[in-house]
Amino acid sequence: MNTPQDTPHTPDAPDAPHTADTLDIARADAWIRALAAAVDKHRQQLTELDSAIGDGDHGSNLQRGFTAVLTALDALEPAGVGAVLTKTGSTLISKVGGASGPLYGSAFRAMGAALPGPAADPAQFAQALAAGLAAVRKLGAAEPGDKTIVDAYAPALAAFEQAVTAGGDLATAAAAAADAAERGMRDTVPLQARKGRASYLGPRSIGHQDPGATSTALLFRTLADVTGPA
Ligand code: ADP
Ligand code: MG
Repeated sequence: MNTPQDTPHTPDAPDAPHTADTLDIARADAWIRALAAAVDKHRQQLTELDSAIGDGDHGSNLQRGFTAVLTALDALEPAGVGAVLTKTGSTLISKVGGASGPLYGSAFRAMGAALPGPAADPAQFAQALAAGLAAVRKLGAAEPGDKTIVDAYAPALAAFEQAVTAGGDLATAAAAAADAAERGMRDTVPLQARKGRASYLGPRSIGHQDPGATSTALLFRTLADVTGPA
């Protein structure tokens, strides 16, 4: 039988940055920077979606927040991966006035608090993502189907956890999560909003894609990008 011990393998070079299957400081930093770039690229789309069922500021809210996050990360000397995410969260909370700032800020702070070590393996990062969703739900009290961030985040987390349980690596889990987030995002179109500003529209919120679910899809897609094959 071909046991793991029988399988020949070459040890990783000690200075190779991304050979271990972990989210380390460098990867977390790359993730947040990629997310900031994606927010910048999609600012107009996020604004248009929020104009249809909100007040048209989701793109500019997140862009303002992530611009401040980049400045904060430039000055940070993180002791571990959690510090990168905690700083991201606290900066979003302090710089973004809209609903999305405290919601995403709480999510990133909870992820950071869940990761005390230098780096996170796939199972540890799954727990951090779960802590992030719990923070969003505690603060915003949204249920799945309310047409919010939760409708992209919850299926993404479930897909991530399922992939890790099946033995998948970080890249596989993140790719599955990104696909699930994008499906969840598209599935917000027929929903009626029951939380946030869009809920004021009642049935008129039906037929529009939720802006927050859209930015959550960017969050998971950029995670897949930075963990995936180059
Ligand atoms: P605001 O609504 O204050 O203008 P943004 O436009 O930045 O804030 O963000 C709007 C997005 O926030 C919505 O599209 C929705 O996805 C998300 N959101 C609003 N309220 C909640 C909530 N209670 N729980 C989860 N997400 C929410
Ligand atoms: Mg808005």
